Amino acid sequence: MRNPFLSIRHFSTMSPVAACHVAVIGAGASGLAAARHLRREGHSVVVFEKESQVGGIWIYTNHTEPDPLGLDPTRPRVHSSLYSSLRTNLPRESMGFREYPFAAKKTGQRDPRRFPGHSEVLEYLKDYASEFGIGELVRFETEVSRVWRRGSGKWEVRSRKKNGDDEDINEAFDAVVVCNGHYTEPRIAHIPGVDRWPGKQIHSHNYRVPEPFQNKIVVLIGSSASAVDISREIASVANEVHIASWSNSTEESATLPGYDNVWLRPMIESANEDGTISFPHGLKISADIILHCTGYKYHFPFLDTEGIVTVDDNRVGPLYKHVFPPSLAPWLSFVGLPWKVAPFPQYELQCEWIAGILSGRISLPSEEEMTKEVEAFYDSLKASGVPKRYTHNMTGYQFEYNDWIAMQCGTPKTEEWRIKMYHATSLNRNARPESYREEWEDDDLVMQAYQDFAKQIS
Ligand code: FAD
Repeated sequence: MRNPFLSIRHFSTMSPVAACHVAVIGAGASGLAAARHLRREGHSVVVFEKESQVGGIWIYTNHTEPDPLGLDPTRPRVHSSLYSSLRTNLPRESMGFREYPFAAKKTGQRDPRRFPGHSEVLEYLKDYASEFGIGELVRFETEVSRVWRRGSGKWEVRSRKKNGDDEDINEAFDAVVVCNGHYTEPRIAHIPGVDRWPGKQIHSHNYRVPEPFQNKIVVLIGSSASAVDISREIASVANEVHIASWSNSTEESATLPGYDNVWLRPMIESANEDGTISFPHGLKISADIILHCTGYKYHFPFLDTEGIVTVDDNRVGPLYKHVFPPSLAPWLSFVGLPWKVAPFPQYELQCEWIAGILSGRISLPSEEEMTKEVEAFYDSLKASGVPKRYTHNMTGYQFEYNDWIAMQCGTPKTEEWRIKMYHATSLNRNARPESYREEWEDDDLVMQAYQDFAKQIS
């Protein structure tokens, strides 16, 4: 099914100053945007994707990993972290790509809701890929196992076709764009004594449906969007849910408004051999399951930069503007590392920027200047007491960042309605965590968005 904007205006292909041969790793939303913008700029592109379709994290599966905490490095991996009931936490108008509106379709099997279910996002990404002919650039079921730099300066990419008899293949590229996603490798809360605690532990990466929590006493750790959704869903079947979070008061524990079996607790002090969990002020709860909704780690198991790029306490660095390692720029780049953002529109901008720099149409500062800027950025985080693991947290400045990149690319800044809608949704989500997907007060912005989308119909 094609986008309703059948005659959507494509920006024309640029005449590159220099065309490069570029490897993109991953065909999720960021890899699709990379392929689109690199080709538009005139580069030749190969996208490596280990799955059999585009969409990345949005390909829901009811499979989970055999190690429910994801601690065993040799475990078979499941890429997606979606749960069955997941609906978007951003409204479709502000979530979608700028160049390709995520407009509601009222046809066929499509989900026209403003905050649609996950399968609608997957369909949208497939539409995007087909609109821009990206499928033909993708090598499906082909996993990249190693990326390294040859003496000549070219990048070598080693890949292997899944389930085939084929051998590893090594190929040379001028540049590599890393788009492998960062919601697959679980981060686990450190709980003193948990090794001897007899209950069950699971990370939300392996949460799909609430049924296994029937009649259980669950301690859920975290306060992210997933933690909010999952705690409510589990409460419908569990005996008790205790939400432990640093952001809950240490003074008193309250029940969650509207629920008589969900409590807001401060962070756990310890897990004990007798099956109890200890909280501050002597509170002990006998629990069956700890569910870690504690986020994910950046993970690039295939990437060998001889120590130039590292992941240190979840800081991927050194990276200029979260994209380029100064000493390897622009030949190695990362798309989509920032969080607490509207991802898709930011991917577009990062990819347009990378593509334009590779062709020589846009310039980067010198390696020395980029390094200085990265160091100044890290110093400013340190001075403000921001831990390293929040390096890519863009709370409060994503639009400033996006506009800076837009200026580099000579492309329009973020639309006013999109910025206002993002903020209106955040406020609404905090005020009505249960019902923000059904009740809102920004219909005027929705109207402006659709007026804007309509301009893209030629
Ligand atoms: P992914 O979608 O993870 O894609 C990475 C791709 O790389 C995958 O297809 C993978 O198979 C492939 N790959 C990885 N390693 C290799 C390799 N070695 N070789 C070959 N291929 C490889 N965003 C929103 O905008 N709205 C939301 O409502 C929203 N909700 C979310 C809810 C949850 C639970 C999670 C986890 C995330 C949510 N996000 C949401 C964020 C979401 O992750 C991004 O929107 C986006 O889809 C990520 O795209 P990506 O391409 O960076 O990564």
